[in-house]
Amino acid sequence: MINISENIKNIRSTLPETVKLVAVSKTQPKEFIEEAYKTGQRIFGESKPLEMRDKYQLLPKDIEWHFIGHLQTNKVKYLVSFVSLIHSVDTFKLLQTINKEAVKVGRVVPCLLQMHIAKEETKFGFSFSEIEEFLCSDEFKEMQNVKICGLMGMATYSEDEELIRSEFKYLADCFQNLKEKYFADKEYFKEISMGMSGDYLLAMEYGSTLIRVGSSIFGERVYL
Ligand SMILES: *Cc1c(COP(=O)(O)O)cnc(C)c1O
Repeated sequence: MINISENIKNIRSTLPETVKLVAVSKTQPKEFIEEAYKTGQRIFGESKPLEMRDKYQLLPKDIEWHFIGHLQTNKVKYLVSFVSLIHSVDTFKLLQTINKEAVKVGRVVPCLLQMHIAKEETKFGFSFSEIEEFLCSDEFKEMQNVKICGLMGMATYSEDEELIRSEFKYLADCFQNLKEKYFADKEYFKEISMGMSGDYLLAMEYGSTLIRVGSSIFGERVYL
């Protein structure tokens, strides 16, 4: 039997005040989210736009919904009106679409840029030079309805602790570098989203501010 509230309490007891827990509830039923909610958990992470929208409609309105999965441009419209943070912006076209949809609903949508830090080919994300090029561009300066609040990354799925450490360190170094060069006067550029069930303790050593934990809270996911 999984005990969601026990699991959350145990994880919370390991977190310094600077780290926020994103409870990754993708594929999990709304009853599981309600159980987590009762312990005071308010940030939930989802990776499918329609699933997130349905849960948003059914559940308490003080939940902060974080989108963490790969987001197709034609799905932005399903979440733009309520999403609290999009962790997974991995192309500039996507950011442009979020900006355009955000204009329509009169919001400024907080976003993180996802960086490719893992050895695996399959992980989405930008390189450092792509981000720099974009931040200097006129297109970016004209985007008034998105706010870049930091970076997100996923380490290689591996037993090799040194490899994982080096990837988290790299993401943290990129964050500091961008902060100094482009966001020195922007206090909202402050988030480093890194660390999942298997590696969040390591990620926190390198300055993670948002950990995205699913299976250690809710148990294994069943994909139907
Ligand atoms: C599913 C997912 C997680 C949570 O993974 P767990 O190993 O279950 O903690 C974290 N981040 C992203 C981007 C995910 O897609």
